[in-house]
Amino acid sequence: MAANSRCSAAEPPDLETQRREVECLLRDCELRAGDSWFMVDHRWYEQWKEFVESGDQNSSCPGQIDNTELFEDVCSNHLKERLVENEDFVLVPAAAWHKLLSWYGMVDQQPPLERKVVDLPSTLKVEVYPVEIFLCLHGSMENVTMAQFSRTDSIHSIQMAMCRVFSLPPTCECRLWMKSSENNCERLRNVHMSVLDACLSSGMTVIMETRNADGTWPSTRPLILRNSVEEQDSYRGQPGVCGLTNLGNTCFMNSALQCLSNTPPLTEYFLQSIYLEELNFSNPLGMKGEIAEAYADVIKQMWSGHHYSVVPRVFKTKVGHFASQFLGYQQHDSQELLSFLLDGLHEDLNRVKNKEYIELRDAEGRPDQEVAEEAWRNHKRRNDSVIVDTFHGLFKSTLICPQCHKVSVTFDPFCYLSIPLPVSKERVMEVFFISLDPYAKPMQHRVVVPKAGKVLDLCLALSEMTEVPETQMVVADVFKHRFYKIYTPDESLSCILDRDDIFVYECSAQSDQQVLLALYLRERAHYRDYGSVSTTLFGHPLLLSVPRSSCSPEALYQIFLQRLARYVRAPNPSGELEEDEDDDDDEEELYKSQTNGISDDDEQDDAEPTGSSQSEACYADGLANSRHQDPIAPSEVHIRPPPPEEGDVHSMCTGAPKPLCSGDAGPSDGHIHARGEESRAEVAEEGNDEAENEEEPPQSDAIAEDDGKQEEACSPSSPVNEQAAKTRTCRRKKRLFDIQAVNCNGLERETGPNLTLSSQPYVALDWDAEIKKRFYNENEAEKYVKHSSMDVPLQQTTVQLQECIQLFTTVETLEEENPWYCPVCKKHQLATKKLDLWSLPEVLIIHLKRFSYTKFTREKLDTIVDFPLRNLDFSGCLLRKKLSNGEPPSRYDLIAVSNHYGGLRDGHYTSYARNKDNGQWYYFDDSKVTYATEEQIMTNAAYVLFYHRQDKMRKPCVAAPSPSSAICTASSTSKASSMQPPEADVSAATPSCVSAFAELTMETN
Ligand SMILES: [Zn+2]
Repeated sequence: MAANSRCSAAEPPDLETQRREVECLLRDCELRAGDSWFMVDHRWYEQWKEFVESGDQNSSCPGQIDNTELFEDVCSNHLKERLVENEDFVLVPAAAWHKLLSWYGMVDQQPPLERKVVDLPSTLKVEVYPVEIFLCLHGSMENVTMAQFSRTDSIHSIQMAMCRVFSLPPTCECRLWMKSSENNCERLRNVHMSVLDACLSSGMTVIMETRNADGTWPSTRPLILRNSVEEQDSYRGQPGVCGLTNLGNTCFMNSALQCLSNTPPLTEYFLQSIYLEELNFSNPLGMKGEIAEAYADVIKQMWSGHHYSVVPRVFKTKVGHFASQFLGYQQHDSQELLSFLLDGLHEDLNRVKNKEYIELRDAEGRPDQEVAEEAWRNHKRRNDSVIVDTFHGLFKSTLICPQCHKVSVTFDPFCYLSIPLPVSKERVMEVFFISLDPYAKPMQHRVVVPKAGKVLDLCLALSEMTEVPETQMVVADVFKHRFYKIYTPDESLSCILDRDDIFVYECSAQSDQQVLLALYLRERAHYRDYGSVSTTLFGHPLLLSVPRSSCSPEALYQIFLQRLARYVRAPNPSGELEEDEDDDDDEEELYKSQTNGISDDDEQDDAEPTGSSQSEACYADGLANSRHQDPIAPSEVHIRPPPPEEGDVHSMCTGAPKPLCSGDAGPSDGHIHARGEESRAEVAEEGNDEAENEEEPPQSDAIAEDDGKQEEACSPSSPVNEQAAKTRTCRRKKRLFDIQAVNCNGLERETGPNLTLSSQPYVALDWDAEIKKRFYNENEAEKYVKHSSMDVPLQQTTVQLQECIQLFTTVETLEEENPWYCPVCKKHQLATKKLDLWSLPEVLIIHLKRFSYTKFTREKLDTIVDFPLRNLDFSGCLLRKKLSNGEPPSRYDLIAVSNHYGGLRDGHYTSYARNKDNGQWYYFDDSKVTYATEEQIMTNAAYVLFYHRQDKMRKPCVAAPSPSSAICTASSTSKASSMQPPEADVSAATPSCVSAFAELTMETN
């Protein structure tokens, strides 16, 4: 911890050199299997980039590398789940890491997050998360050990690890079983297979059994298994009504598979084995038929009627081979998998063996009909498969150059429609308002601001609620007890993320006579081992304007003390901090303070001789005195003076101490917890605080008495004017804290202890731990109140699917990042673009774009889209005019929905689908399948919709199950129903309605 207050050990080169060196290393570095890369907190890295790019030494030094935010638990060094690259962390090659480390150092006791590049089937990848597997022996399954493996490790290496862990000879004869859920267990036969290929994922258990002395094995299968083979032989359920076992974060895949499985033309194509004739083994764009065959296997099992649930292991492995992005945590998106799968199936089943080159022609004024037919013909000359037959449609895209007005028309095939949802132009932000009144608690407000607005818009909105002029507000992002960023009014609100803690400070009117100070609170910690003093930030930082004329240390001290008055008790002017007190009548109080002091005393005794460089005589005095018990005796609370009015000149100017009211939390009081703190620590601290508060009497008695004395001593007029007098009378008094100029990170500046405010508006108030304990009320400091705007419930918006489709066909102007090359102007232009639907496929997939990604924000829109189950009619918006005959109708019925519950990262996927044979709707949640009614289908979780054109739909060939038969089915599998359902891969919300209907199946093979 010795290096805590300094940026680094080595003198870093100038900023430009730093930027260039790291940039070079990043640019030249390729992924090589076995190489080490390092994870760095994204926020730190961005701040470093800003630092070296802006070249401003003072404003944004990122400080030591700090990966705290990436850890679930710093003690065990366990990473948080589902961290996303370039959002939570960045990966830098070893050489760049070592440079950054040598320049900035690292927060103490944090391990570097070194990760290896692994060679996965289709790509090289930095393995951020190793696979964490539980290991146990068949004989003692309660004795479980967790071990980490790389996806490229072999099953044999797991076997070797188990022999080591369980002290078995490496040559012992054993069998390994993989348990992926409560009721699924499989033998790992091929020990040369990789962890990846075996589909072992985090959270699974590997069970080892060793051969008995008599040559037999302990069991034909480990006892945890219900041997379900016989049961399945007898099971004859409705074909297609079959769950899919979750193989560890595979609900997105299961959801997509259920939708496709319930797409009649595709499933019949596979069930009738037509695919065998059409497998394309030579298509370089395909997967040698492997995806199609693996998919066919899953479909045939699901529609055999033999299984309650199928384990899509081989299929998952193949998908992982061909698209390793689905192995990571970043892109678990059922729509992306669908897109990949439809493309993979198409190429694997493409009837065109040799794709000819076709030059695409622009319309050049020819009639749409002609151009569209030509485009479709050309598409079919290269792409001809069951996927094209079933899912492909054609849309018209019209681009107009804004300069020369060149009109370019093309007709492009599509496999699904990605439909935008109307995005609100407004944004709801939650911010804390800090009044100038030192006794006012922070107030949390909910304000509505324009999404594309500026920080000024936030201030204006807040100004309406608070009646504080927007010119007297300063907006800041507070992170880990310091200002991560102080915004100027013209900065864009898009820089502020919803998860940021935004504080808006009221400041007195700005003028040349005022200087705006950023105030940090720091606690000194003494370390015996190092013999040095370091500081840790605590509490919430403050912004306040002070008159330039009162920047003397003593005046500042009084101003700061006043600003903190709500939660900092001013010392008794009769010398509470200097003299011994013999106010120990109260034994309980004495006992308490002694107990509090014991451990600290030990440390301080050792630390004292070295001390901090700032320690002066009085500081040492303070230390000595701080060991004595708090002189305040428990007594009446009634002498507490009334809280001052806002703007009360007397209370603002005298610096007279005010009592701390520790027990006055209103019903709406809450605690603001500084982000980035360990939650466990918070709980512990809070617990302590409360305990202390209960025991500790309110200090009003002593203070009320002090009040008078102080006024006698320090005259009631302004500290600015009475500077001299005050210094005279108060000089010998020990201060609660020392004032120290710091940089924006709260680190010591190199300029030395002299406070020069003109050059540096950041100051830290350094507290001794013991004094802080006595005078700083942490519980009170964390309190805040909620403004009534917080009570207004957020509205849920509903839109019609047709509105979204209209949005899809609305004229838009291309964005800067994605211009169009105008062949006439011969340069890129921000053309206007309009999409129109020309022809629609038999099965129309509509992807609702719930995930909105912009440069700065990622959000999930939970708008309810009102989509029809029947008669979705496109006749009004199809561009192709009705031909005399042969024109297919354009009415569709819903057949399947892929649902997404939860937020951006921790989502869960399920699906609703209608069985093609009996017309009944079902709800598929991994291996669990339940009946569903049509009323349940439309929710704000609907993410991908499958529609079937009415003319192609067939009447159900078997009767739909009646409610009574449903119960019958469920009871016939009562054995299965009594089992625990397989663990969902996330604790996602499933619709509460599910439990209301009969459970059909919960079985695995
Ligand atoms: Zn042009």
